[in-house]
Amino acid sequence: MDATQKWANERRIRDLMKVLEENKFNAVYAENKDEARRIVMDMIPEGSTIAVGGSVTLNETGILDEIRKPEYKFIDRYNTKTFEEMLDKYREGYFADIMVSSTNAITMTGELVNIDCTGNRTSQIVFGPKKVIIVAGVNKIVDTLEEGMKRAKKIAPMNARRITHKTPCATDDNIKCINCHDHARVCNVTSIVTGCHYFPGRITVVLVPEILGY
Ligand code: SF4
Repeated sequence: MDATQKWANERRIRDLMKVLEENKFNAVYAENKDEARRIVMDMIPEGSTIAVGGSVTLNETGILDEIRKPEYKFIDRYNTKTFEEMLDKYREGYFADIMVSSTNAITMTGELVNIDCTGNRTSQIVFGPKKVIIVAGVNKIVDTLEEGMKRAKKIAPMNARRITHKTPCATDDNIKCINCHDHARVCNVTSIVTGCHYFPGRITVVLVPEILGY
């Protein structure tokens, strides 16, 4: 990324941080994905129980690898033998000390927008884990709530494909949403978090001027 683009990205993020802080989120700027990883891990005390939302960003930043280290109690939703066992891990996540996730979109008006299949990620961001850390690249930032909803919906087919749900929008030759009624539909739950006024600072948003996830 050239210096001018990075400057523009940082300016946008700094403006967004002011809005987030008004909405009682914590907001932190990270120069790059490595700094984001350090910031996130510095926020997590050893021995914490940690839940995660499904996220390409957590892989790309190396945060997921860090969370797997033995000094943490990772509620490992990826290491289960059956669907029921995976759902039990999701349920455990509601009692986690910390949940780490990305977001499908974050608006310049200070809202987090997410769409889920089962709803564990969307709902745990809203309530349950004592603290939530959201890591988001600059590509997740949009101007308005309407654009946030559009963005979340636009990337749903990619998320369906990533998690191998055989939806009509994630076939070899189609990526368009047909508002399906498939069992595998990934768009069952939408959450919009507009603020943390009742639990100030419960959610920290770490913003990175790089493209992370999709
Ligand atoms: S509603 Fe169905 S077709 Fe549309 S994006 Fe979601 S999973 Fe894909």
